[in-house]
Amino acid sequence: MPSLYEVPLTALSGVGQKRAELFAKLNIRTVGDLIRFYPRSYENWAELTPIVDLTHGEKCVIRARVMGAVSVVRLSGNRLMAKVPVADDTGYLTLVFFNNKYISSMLKYGEEYLFMGKAAHDGYGFQMVSPEFSPVDKSGAIMPVYNLTAGLTNRVVVHAVKEALSMLPETIRDPLPYQILRQYDLCTLSYALQHIHFPTDQSALERARTRLVFEELLVLNLGMRMMRTRARERTSVRMTEDYTGAFIERLPFTLTSAQRRAVADCVADMKDHSYPMNRLIQGDVGSGKTAVCAALCYHCVKNGYQAAFMAPTEILARQHYDTFSKMFDETGISIELLTGALSSAEKKRVRARIETGESDIVIGTHALLSESTVFDRLGLALTDEQHRFGVEQRSRLSDKGEHPHVLVLSATPIPRTLGLIIYGDLDVTVIDEMPPGRTEVKTLLIDSEKRHRAMGFIRDQIIEGRQCYIVTPLVDESENELSNVNDYAAELMLGEFRNIPVGILHGKMKPRDKEEVMSLFSNNEISVLVSTTVVEVGVDIKNATVMMIENAERFGLSQLHQLRGRVGRGEHQSYCILVSDNQGDATRRRLSTMCRTNNGFEIADEDLRLRGPGDFFGSRQHGLPKLSIADFSDIETLERSQQAAATLLQLSPDLSVDSLRGLRAEIRQLFLSAGETLN
Ligand code: ADP
Ligand code: MG
Repeated sequence: MPSLYEVPLTALSGVGQKRAELFAKLNIRTVGDLIRFYPRSYENWAELTPIVDLTHGEKCVIRARVMGAVSVVRLSGNRLMAKVPVADDTGYLTLVFFNNKYISSMLKYGEEYLFMGKAAHDGYGFQMVSPEFSPVDKSGAIMPVYNLTAGLTNRVVVHAVKEALSMLPETIRDPLPYQILRQYDLCTLSYALQHIHFPTDQSALERARTRLVFEELLVLNLGMRMMRTRARERTSVRMTEDYTGAFIERLPFTLTSAQRRAVADCVADMKDHSYPMNRLIQGDVGSGKTAVCAALCYHCVKNGYQAAFMAPTEILARQHYDTFSKMFDETGISIELLTGALSSAEKKRVRARIETGESDIVIGTHALLSESTVFDRLGLALTDEQHRFGVEQRSRLSDKGEHPHVLVLSATPIPRTLGLIIYGDLDVTVIDEMPPGRTEVKTLLIDSEKRHRAMGFIRDQIIEGRQCYIVTPLVDESENELSNVNDYAAELMLGEFRNIPVGILHGKMKPRDKEEVMSLFSNNEISVLVSTTVVEVGVDIKNATVMMIENAERFGLSQLHQLRGRVGRGEHQSYCILVSDNQGDATRRRLSTMCRTNNGFEIADEDLRLRGPGDFFGSRQHGLPKLSIADFSDIETLERSQQAAATLLQLSPDLSVDSLRGLRAEIRQLFLSAGETLN
């Protein structure tokens, strides 16, 4: 159908320049756009109401015959009012139209029509003002309702669509190859287009919709997958020798098989392919991604390159630095920390060592991205908690080398099917196993009346030597986050926790101060850390056993799961206490999901079900194309279309075979709207 995308809308008889401009407001510029402009909903014209049964104020459909001439009255302000008498076997009714000169030519005396509108009783009898109508023999039972813009009526759109459909060639080229139609039991494109606009009945509509949703998701899938292989520059960074085994031997624990698999995937990617690795490792909080990164950095250095490891916060960068320093002890490999917290003299020294190649592994924050950070031979660029960074920042890190290998890590579990789309441009490894010996975090939901008891419980834990996080209430924007954390902590220090060392952590603190608090906490010199959500990502302190979250209802499930992931990292039984006074059913149900499961993927699925996919896509800067009929929560069709995409790509990796020409055109069309260029 690509040719119709080139026919301007004005080619339709009812559409002049003015109307074309109105259509343009709806992003419809060509006949092809219009055909792909699917109805917002449908009206059922099959259910008829006899005139005698009309109810004042109710919308209904009647089947009636024009019983007399149209009488036109001129009203003040140069307005026209037309009245038309109609009747069915049970009674009479007057139709009223305003400012429509053509009514007398549209409604013919003696003919029968269907009218849809609101019935109104005026004291004498029933009227219907400006009803929609269509001749009895020409109307389908189900009529489309389109999204409109001021000045454009549904009737005009219906007409335009009808004419556009009539311009479709007798046999339009179906972008879906015949085998796919057969395998997935889908109707043809021409059937689908006809019936999505003017379905003959409900089942035809369903069939049409199924086909179009499938097609759109398939096109999206293919487009994303093609982006993965496209525009990847060749690299000369090769890591031919596998050194990871030696490093894994040195670790104080045995890697899980999921961790081993992740390491192996990356080693294979970096071996001697001519394209750089472009992989995502997705693993729930606590699944041990850091050790995997360390092994890969070791491997990279032993193969003669530098590695850069970027984290979203100072705290996390510092923590990784400490972890790495221990893991790399006596390997002769030099590790550097580069964050905004360093003095400029220190930064300068560190950068000099990176540039000369003296340092092998550099761990840092955004500071790594600065112009003045220059690598001697960057071979591997890692980004932790990638959802905290924009796509653009990720690529800026890899720009520091000559097409280095790229690995990103994420602890935000997203349903697999969505992942294939969101991360369609990345290869994905999932770490689906936890290190042994973890006990499940016990999660409780309480209201503030029980807070006092919870504090007592926390005190007992502290007496036993454990530590605790308290995430303070989120505040409205008008309030002040700082005073909130401070007040909360002050109250504890003066009251419940008088004899217990309490620390404060929030995002607006100076990096140095944050660092100091974190190191006191990690040495157990602070027992209770009162904090904002800055502890959300990555922090790993095994002795902390309680995570208490105030105003839990204000967080998304995935974020609560992240926060909870701060505890349960060591041998001690850990607890997550959600405090909420919200008694709403929906909130209770949502929060009880947290009590029921510790599985991040299950929680993500639930989040998807309850809040829709917006949250998963929201934080992503990378604009996915706007879908016109499909919906990301239709997991089943997502899966079917993914399967089909895989089959087609196997058949022809670049979709170049002739039978897929139409599909290629659709991909181009869909991605045009996202500003992507696909060749
Ligand atoms: P995340 O995947 O959330 O980044 P981390 O890498 O911080 O998780 O690991 C969580 C904790 O588990 C760390 O304390 C780490 O030392 C420990 N750990 C990692 N892998 C293993 C393993 N295979 N066996 C035992 N403990 C492990
Ligand atoms: Mg981590």
